Amino acid sequence: MKTARIPFNWPYMTGKEMHYIAEAHVNGRLAGDGPFTKRCHGWLESRTGCDKALLTHSCTAALEMASLLLDIQPGDEVIMPSYTFVSTANAFVLRGGIPVFVDIRADTLNLDENLIEPAITSRTRVIVPVHYAGVACEMDTIMSIANRHDLKVVEDAAQGVMATYKGHALGSIGHMGAYSFHETKNVISGEGGALLVNDPDLVSRAETIREKGTDRNRFFRGEVDKYTWQEMGSSFLPGELIAAFLWAQLEEADRITQKRLTSWRRYHELLAPLESKGLIRRPIVPDECQHNAHMYYVILSPEIDRHKVLEAFKRHDIGVVFHYVPLHSSPGGKQFGRAHGTLDVTNSQSEQLIRLPLWVALNEEQQDKVVAVLTQAIS
Ligand SMILES: *Cc1c(COP(=O)(O)O)cnc(C)c1O
Repeated sequence: MKTARIPFNWPYMTGKEMHYIAEAHVNGRLAGDGPFTKRCHGWLESRTGCDKALLTHSCTAALEMASLLLDIQPGDEVIMPSYTFVSTANAFVLRGGIPVFVDIRADTLNLDENLIEPAITSRTRVIVPVHYAGVACEMDTIMSIANRHDLKVVEDAAQGVMATYKGHALGSIGHMGAYSFHETKNVISGEGGALLVNDPDLVSRAETIREKGTDRNRFFRGEVDKYTWQEMGSSFLPGELIAAFLWAQLEEADRITQKRLTSWRRYHELLAPLESKGLIRRPIVPDECQHNAHMYYVILSPEIDRHKVLEAFKRHDIGVVFHYVPLHSSPGGKQFGRAHGTLDVTNSQSEQLIRLPLWVALNEEQQDKVVAVLTQAIS
């Protein structure tokens, strides 16, 4: 029996995107930091409570800005999980930094806060918690470790837009936070991101680094009478068309999150029996974390062959994927970083995890089908 394909992701459009892009077109102001960018900045600042939000081309670019802002030097060590996307590490490696990979917690798959301190050396400069699936890392503990050792914290909150930890927006807790608006995330602009700066001392330099290392932002505010090259920087700002698109999405961010949460909870209920039978482990969300339903994953029990499960989904034309190949075991990770400890949880969980389709317009019938195929494949 052949039924319609169920894609892994289907980007949601609010319907206002083209309207705002047309408005930007009429404004005739297409370079960065125009009216739509300012609206997006205002929204991000008021919704997250950060000191300064700055749109970037991507979360990758935001992390690269953070690395420049912290003046990472060759040999500086940066503590991060191995179980993450490459950009978390690359941003620091580009400046000569050394990723030090620490294991993750078995429940949230986030950086294990108890393993951070043993990994600190005299070269450690930064801790990068990655909020996997929009579920927060144990930020109170991480911030107190950072304060004790005089380290900076850069939150990789690529997946964390609209999620909170003890009521605080992800990305607003560390010294800086990085968001992604990539098509595969919850709130999107195709490619896109933002750097949230939460340390007032870093705001002015953040603006400079983002504007090719010049004080152009201060010039536009009338604070200086000409703008000049101040320090090492690049062009990290997106044009207005991207910001116009993003504005349409930010306006709907609450509704997008609610819709995703509804599907997430439904998966969670439907999959409870498989967990009871010991066949899978469902996501665990600590009480102090409000997540954003970025992802619904399950971890197959060790005796199940993941490859066979993925094949079953493929036969039914259902987009089920896995990630990440741990960075410490990838060629780049071996060349540029080092593992602290044996990373047992990372190694075992990453081999058994699968991600189910989850997008705004996913319907109940499609969800039922996904659950039926999974049940059949593993029972
Ligand atoms: C998506 C993602 C990124 C990269 O985001 P881009 O906007 O595509 O650069 C970085 N880190 C994590 C954890 C991500 O999920």
